[in-house]
Amino acid sequence: MISCERFMAELGEYLEGDAAAGIRRQLEEHLSHCRTCWVTYDSVRKTLRIVTDSACFDVSEALSESIVERVMARVRP
Ligand SMILES: [Zn+2]
Repeated sequence: MISCERFMAELGEYLEGDAAAGIRRQLEEHLSHCRTCWVTYDSVRKTLRIVTDSACFDVSEALSESIVERVMARVRP
């Protein structure tokens, strides 16, 4: 199983759909075992959805990455 650090490092790409299939499977497996990472994933995903839904333009990759980082900094223990 991959570590929480690895999960957090890959989370942004995973949410943007950029993670490779092999990594996606490992991240999903980690999510099913690790509640801490699941909560982080869930908060980041919801925040990203609110931002992308309320914006009438495409959220740039850099912006969504900084959002992911900000949310992760808040939810991280
Ligand atoms: Zn974890």
